[in-house]
Amino acid sequence: MLKDKVALVTGAASGIGRCVALTWAREGARVVLADLNEEQGQESAALVRELGAEALYLRADAGSPADHEALVALTMRHFGRLDAACNNAGIGGASAPTADYPLDAWEQVLRVNLSGVFYACKYQIAAMLQGGGGSIINMASILGAVGFANSAAYTAAKHGVLGLTKAAALEYSARGVRINAVGPGFIQTPMISGLEQDPATHAALVAAHPMGRLGQPEEIAELVAWLASDRASFVTGAYYPVDGGYLAR
Ligand code: NAD
Repeated sequence: MLKDKVALVTGAASGIGRCVALTWAREGARVVLADLNEEQGQESAALVRELGAEALYLRADAGSPADHEALVALTMRHFGRLDAACNNAGIGGASAPTADYPLDAWEQVLRVNLSGVFYACKYQIAAMLQGGGGSIINMASILGAVGFANSAAYTAAKHGVLGLTKAAALEYSARGVRINAVGPGFIQTPMISGLEQDPATHAALVAAHPMGRLGQPEEIAELVAWLASDRASFVTGAYYPVDGGYLAR
């Protein structure tokens, strides 16, 4: 689906991001991997190369506009184009009711999970326009569509990602840049391993998904690969939940 495309994914050292990088590689893409975690990021790049695909890892902070600018510049220098990007890096933040939510955690979650997606789009769109178009997939969440107690910053940031996605899609779809958002339900990655350790919390999360289970990173990466490809050529400004039915209630 992605033969010869150059595709960039942030948060590529773990969970969904690593899986997106590997799925893209299997579909024929050359992959740029970005993450703060250098050791695991290099490990992801090595796994991509084992599949026979070209891979480039760069240490980048998703909350830094300068790092996004450098990441896109490096991609353009190395590959000469940028066809697809998945803005996936994210953090969970604190767990506290709004009146007790720590100010620094609020700032940090908004910086990485929302401003980070804006910075990414800003530089990626410019590069994609140079190449005649492209596809951006922003990683939102089911919590971009409904609330979740004790997670004001995360819920607000993910709702913001949907708004940013829609506005940018309106601006650039006529010039060939498609911009969509994906909303995972609870997916078994290191991000939720803390929640899963408590049996009662784990059972409640499972029960919230009508399929009676949590999701796997591969189930998100499949959709991300399709959205990145030309098979999704008429899809823009959309939000796709991948949540085992969570939002159907
Ligand atoms: P994860 O913790 O396994 O991976 C997140 C990756 O992002 C890590 O490699 C981490 O190093 C990186 N990262 C964190 N902050 C960064 C920063 N400032 N700059 C660069 N990299 C940074 O988590 P995951 O579950 O794979 O989450 C990926 C995305 O999916 C996130 O945006 C998350 O909000 C979203 N999501 C996850 C779930 C879930 O249940 N796991 C559900 C909905 C949405």
